[in-house]
Amino acid sequence: MSKFNNQYYLFANWKMYLDLDESMAMSSALKKEVKSFQDSVKMVLFPSALAMDPVIKDVGGALDVGAQNVYWVEKGGYTGEVSATMVKAVGADYCLIGHSERRHLFGETEHQTRQKIEAALAAGLTPVLCVGEKAEEKKDGKTLIIVEEQIRAALDGLLWPKDRELIVAYEPVWAIGTGLACDPIEAEQVHGYIHSLLQKLISGTIPVLLYGGSVRPNNVVDYLKQTHINGVLVGGASAKIDSWMEIVKVCTV
Ligand code: PEP
Repeated sequence: MSKFNNQYYLFANWKMYLDLDESMAMSSALKKEVKSFQDSVKMVLFPSALAMDPVIKDVGGALDVGAQNVYWVEKGGYTGEVSATMVKAVGADYCLIGHSERRHLFGETEHQTRQKIEAALAAGLTPVLCVGEKAEEKKDGKTLIIVEEQIRAALDGLLWPKDRELIVAYEPVWAIGTGLACDPIEAEQVHGYIHSLLQKLISGTIPVLLYGGSVRPNNVVDYLKQTHINGVLVGGASAKIDSWMEIVKVCTV
Protein backbone atom coordinates (compact mmCIF):
# COMPACT_ATOMS: atom_id res chain seq x y z
CA MET A 1 0.00 0.00 0.00
CA SER A 2 1.71 3.19 -1.11
CA LYS A 3 -1.07 5.73 -0.66
CA PHE A 4 0.00 8.97 1.02
CA ASN A 5 -2.57 10.35 3.47
CA ASN A 6 -4.96 7.72 2.07
CA GLN A 7 -4.64 8.96 -1.50
CA TYR A 8 -2.69 8.02 -4.59
CA TYR A 9 -1.09 11.07 -6.17
CA LEU A 10 -1.91 11.29 -9.87
CA PHE A 11 -0.23 14.25 -11.56
CA ALA A 12 -1.11 15.08 -15.17
CA ASN A 13 1.60 16.86 -17.18
CA TRP A 14 -0.17 18.02 -20.33
CA LYS A 15 3.13 19.42 -21.68
CA MET A 16 2.41 21.26 -24.98
CA TYR A 17 -0.03 18.53 -26.09
CA LEU A 18 -3.27 20.46 -25.45
CA ASP A 19 -4.30 23.86 -26.77
CA LEU A 20 -6.66 26.09 -24.81
CA ASP A 21 -9.91 24.49 -26.06
CA GLU A 22 -8.58 20.98 -25.54
CA SER A 23 -7.40 21.87 -22.03
CA MET A 24 -10.83 23.25 -21.15
CA ALA A 25 -12.52 20.14 -22.55
CA MET A 26 -10.27 17.96 -20.35
CA SER A 27 -10.80 20.01 -17.20
CA SER A 28 -14.56 20.10 -17.68
CA ALA A 29 -14.69 16.35 -18.22
CA LEU A 30 -12.58 15.71 -15.12
CA LYS A 31 -14.59 18.11 -12.98
CA LYS A 32 -17.71 16.04 -13.68
CA GLU A 33 -15.93 12.91 -12.42
CA VAL A 34 -14.33 14.38 -9.29
CA LYS A 35 -16.78 12.82 -6.83
CA SER A 36 -16.03 9.36 -8.18
CA PHE A 37 -12.32 9.53 -7.30
CA GLN A 38 -11.63 12.31 -4.79
CA ASP A 39 -11.56 10.01 -1.74
CA SER A 40 -8.69 7.91 -3.04
CA VAL A 41 -6.95 10.11 -5.60
CA LYS A 42 -5.21 13.46 -5.27
CA MET A 43 -5.09 14.85 -8.79
CA VAL A 44 -3.02 17.82 -9.92
CA LEU A 45 -3.32 19.15 -13.49
CA PHE A 46 -0.37 20.85 -15.19
CA PRO A 47 -1.77 22.71 -18.24
CA SER A 48 0.24 25.02 -20.49
CA ALA A 49 0.91 28.52 -19.13
CA LEU A 50 -1.76 29.79 -21.53
CA ALA A 51 -4.45 27.47 -20.17
CA MET A 52 -3.56 27.62 -16.48
CA ASP A 53 -5.80 30.52 -15.45
CA PRO A 54 -8.94 29.35 -17.33
CA VAL A 55 -8.48 25.78 -16.11
CA ILE A 56 -8.20 27.02 -12.49
CA LYS A 57 -11.41 29.02 -12.94
CA ASP A 58 -13.14 26.06 -14.59
CA VAL A 59 -12.31 23.50 -11.89
CA GLY A 60 -13.18 26.04 -9.18
CA GLY A 61 -11.10 24.38 -6.46
CA ALA A 62 -12.38 20.87 -7.21
CA LEU A 63 -8.94 19.88 -8.54
CA ASP A 64 -5.46 21.24 -7.92
CA VAL A 65 -3.54 22.96 -10.70
CA GLY A 66 0.15 23.66 -11.23
CA ALA A 67 2.59 25.21 -13.68
CA GLN A 68 4.94 23.17 -15.88
CA ASN A 69 7.77 25.63 -15.24
CA VAL A 70 8.46 28.91 -13.44
CA TYR A 71 11.07 31.67 -13.55
CA TRP A 72 12.77 32.78 -10.34
CA VAL A 73 12.68 36.58 -10.74
CA GLU A 74 9.30 38.09 -9.81
CA LYS A 75 8.98 40.64 -12.63
CA GLY A 76 11.14 42.23 -15.29
CA GLY A 77 12.60 42.02 -18.77
CA TYR A 78 12.57 38.23 -19.18
CA THR A 79 10.79 37.67 -22.48
CA GLY A 80 8.79 34.47 -22.59
CA GLU A 81 9.04 33.65 -18.88
CA VAL A 82 6.35 33.43 -16.18
CA SER A 83 7.37 33.91 -12.56
CA ALA A 84 6.49 31.76 -9.56
CA THR A 85 4.67 34.70 -7.97
CA MET A 86 2.56 35.20 -11.13
CA VAL A 87 1.66 31.52 -11.11
CA LYS A 88 0.62 31.67 -7.45
CA ALA A 89 -1.37 34.86 -8.06
CA VAL A 90 -3.72 33.13 -10.52
CA GLY A 91 -4.45 30.43 -7.93
CA ALA A 92 -2.07 27.61 -8.85
CA ASP A 93 -0.50 25.73 -5.93
CA TYR A 94 2.11 23.49 -7.57
CA CYS A 95 4.86 23.67 -10.18
CA LEU A 96 7.05 21.12 -11.89
CA ILE A 97 10.74 21.95 -11.52
CA GLY A 98 13.63 20.37 -13.39
CA HIS A 99 11.52 18.24 -15.74
CA SER A 100 13.87 16.33 -18.05
CA GLU A 101 12.56 18.27 -21.05
CA ARG A 102 13.55 21.52 -19.34
CA ARG A 103 16.96 20.13 -18.41
CA HIS A 104 17.79 18.42 -21.70
CA LEU A 105 15.86 20.28 -24.44
CA PHE A 106 16.19 23.76 -22.92
CA GLY A 107 19.54 23.40 -21.16
CA GLU A 108 18.31 24.10 -17.63
CA THR A 109 21.23 23.80 -15.22
CA GLU A 110 21.31 22.44 -11.65
CA HIS A 111 21.82 26.02 -10.45
CA GLN A 112 18.71 27.23 -12.30
CA THR A 113 16.70 24.32 -10.95
CA ARG A 114 17.77 25.35 -7.46
CA GLN A 115 16.77 28.98 -8.08
CA LYS A 116 13.36 27.80 -9.29
CA ILE A 117 12.83 25.63 -6.20
CA GLU A 118 13.70 28.56 -3.94
CA ALA A 119 11.45 30.95 -5.88
CA ALA A 120 8.56 28.45 -5.83
CA LEU A 121 8.81 28.01 -2.06
CA ALA A 122 9.07 31.78 -1.49
CA ALA A 123 5.98 32.34 -3.67
CA GLY A 124 3.92 29.81 -1.70
CA LEU A 125 3.95 27.09 -4.35
CA THR A 126 4.70 23.41 -3.76
CA PRO A 127 7.49 22.44 -6.16
CA VAL A 128 7.54 18.96 -7.70
CA LEU A 129 11.23 18.26 -8.28
CA CYS A 130 11.85 15.93 -11.24
CA VAL A 131 15.05 13.90 -11.38
CA GLY A 132 16.32 11.04 -13.50
CA GLU A 133 19.24 9.60 -15.41
CA LYS A 134 19.83 9.36 -19.16
CA ALA A 135 20.09 6.00 -20.97
CA GLU A 136 23.89 6.01 -21.11
CA GLU A 137 24.12 6.90 -17.42
CA LYS A 138 21.89 3.94 -16.58
CA LYS A 139 24.05 1.71 -18.77
CA ASP A 140 27.11 2.86 -16.83
CA GLY A 141 25.43 2.03 -13.50
CA LYS A 142 25.24 5.70 -12.50
CA THR A 143 21.51 6.02 -11.79
CA LEU A 144 21.80 6.60 -8.03
CA ILE A 145 24.78 8.94 -8.42
CA ILE A 146 22.92 11.15 -10.93
CA VAL A 147 19.70 11.19 -8.97
CA GLU A 148 21.55 12.05 -5.75
CA GLU A 149 23.50 14.85 -7.45
CA GLN A 150 20.29 16.36 -8.84
CA ILE A 151 18.49 16.14 -5.49
CA ARG A 152 21.40 17.57 -3.51
CA ALA A 153 21.84 20.44 -5.98
CA ALA A 154 18.15 21.33 -5.77
CA LEU A 155 17.41 20.78 -2.09
CA ASP A 156 20.46 20.49 0.17
CA GLY A 157 20.43 23.04 2.97
CA LEU A 158 16.88 24.25 2.37
CA LEU A 159 14.55 24.91 5.27
CA TRP A 160 11.37 23.19 4.10
CA PRO A 161 8.23 25.16 5.02
CA LYS A 162 6.01 23.20 7.41
CA ASP A 163 2.92 23.84 5.28
CA ARG A 164 4.45 22.39 2.08
CA GLU A 165 4.73 18.79 0.93
CA LEU A 166 8.14 17.59 -0.22
CA ILE A 167 7.43 15.97 -3.60
CA VAL A 168 10.05 14.36 -5.84
CA ALA A 169 9.32 12.55 -9.11
CA TYR A 170 11.80 9.95 -10.33
CA GLU A 171 11.55 10.07 -14.12
CA PRO A 172 14.28 8.22 -16.00
CA VAL A 173 14.95 10.29 -19.13
CA TRP A 174 14.96 7.18 -21.35
CA ALA A 175 11.46 6.25 -20.12
CA ILE A 176 9.76 9.59 -20.85
CA GLY A 177 7.52 9.49 -23.88
CA THR A 178 9.24 6.38 -25.25
CA GLY A 179 6.95 3.53 -24.18
CA LEU A 180 9.98 2.03 -22.36
CA ALA A 181 8.64 2.14 -18.79
CA CYS A 182 11.14 1.41 -16.01
CA ASP A 183 10.90 -2.01 -14.41
CA PRO A 184 8.76 -1.38 -11.27
CA ILE A 185 11.17 -3.26 -8.98
CA GLU A 186 14.10 -1.17 -10.24
CA ALA A 187 11.99 1.98 -9.86
CA GLU A 188 11.22 0.94 -6.26
CA GLN A 189 14.94 0.56 -5.52
CA VAL A 190 15.59 4.10 -6.75
CA HIS A 191 12.60 5.44 -4.80
CA GLY A 192 13.79 3.70 -1.62
CA TYR A 193 17.18 5.39 -2.08
CA ILE A 194 15.56 8.79 -2.70
CA HIS A 195 13.37 8.33 0.38
CA SER A 196 16.35 7.78 2.69
CA LEU A 197 18.35 10.57 1.06
CA LEU A 198 15.50 13.05 1.52
CA GLN A 199 15.07 12.07 5.15
CA LYS A 200 18.76 12.89 5.69
CA LEU A 201 18.61 16.17 3.77
CA ILE A 202 15.30 17.52 5.04
CA SER A 203 14.44 16.22 8.47
CA GLY A 204 10.96 16.09 9.89
CA THR A 205 9.18 15.83 6.53
CA ILE A 206 7.90 12.59 5.03
CA PRO A 207 8.47 12.83 1.27
CA VAL A 208 5.86 12.06 -1.36
CA LEU A 209 7.50 10.14 -4.21
CA LEU A 210 6.17 9.77 -7.74
CA TYR A 211 7.29 7.63 -10.64
CA GLY A 212 7.10 9.03 -14.19
CA GLY A 213 7.94 7.61 -17.59
CA SER A 214 5.53 5.86 -19.96
CA VAL A 215 2.90 5.16 -17.30
CA ARG A 216 -0.22 3.68 -18.88
CA PRO A 217 -3.48 2.17 -17.58
CA ASN A 218 -1.99 -1.32 -17.91
CA ASN A 219 1.15 -0.69 -15.81
CA VAL A 220 0.15 1.96 -13.23
CA VAL A 221 -0.73 -0.60 -10.54
CA ASP A 222 2.72 -2.21 -10.83
CA TYR A 223 4.20 1.09 -9.62
CA LEU A 224 1.60 1.95 -7.01
CA LYS A 225 1.99 -1.36 -5.23
CA GLN A 226 5.65 -0.54 -4.48
CA THR A 227 6.38 0.60 -0.92
CA HIS A 228 7.98 3.95 -1.72
CA ILE A 229 5.96 5.02 -4.77
CA ASN A 230 2.99 7.17 -3.71
CA GLY A 231 1.81 8.17 -7.15
CA VAL A 232 2.68 8.84 -10.75
CA LEU A 233 3.52 11.83 -12.95
CA VAL A 234 2.03 11.11 -16.35
CA GLY A 235 2.58 12.86 -19.67
CA GLY A 236 1.10 11.33 -22.82
CA ALA A 237 -1.56 9.18 -21.14
CA SER A 238 -2.79 12.11 -19.05
CA ALA A 239 -3.61 14.24 -22.09
CA LYS A 240 -6.40 11.95 -23.37
CA ILE A 241 -9.55 11.63 -21.32
CA ASP A 242 -9.98 7.88 -21.95
CA SER A 243 -6.51 6.77 -20.88
CA TRP A 244 -6.39 9.22 -17.97
CA MET A 245 -9.77 8.13 -16.61
CA GLU A 246 -8.68 4.50 -16.97
CA ILE A 247 -5.64 5.26 -14.82
CA VAL A 248 -7.84 7.10 -12.32
CA LYS A 249 -10.33 4.21 -12.13
CA VAL A 250 -7.59 1.68 -11.50
CA CYS A 251 -6.50 3.84 -8.55
CA THR A 252 -9.98 4.42 -7.16
CA VAL A 253 -10.02 1.66 -4.56
C1 PEP B 1 6.47 13.34 -18.23
O1 PEP B 1 6.59 14.13 -19.16
O2 PEP B 1 6.61 13.73 -17.07
C2 PEP B 1 6.17 11.94 -18.56
C3 PEP B 1 6.30 11.08 -17.61
O3 PEP B 1 5.81 11.66 -19.85
P1 PEP B 1 5.20 10.27 -20.39
O4 PEP B 1 4.18 9.79 -19.41
O5 PEP B 1 4.60 10.62 -21.72
O6 PEP B 1 6.35 9.32 -20.51
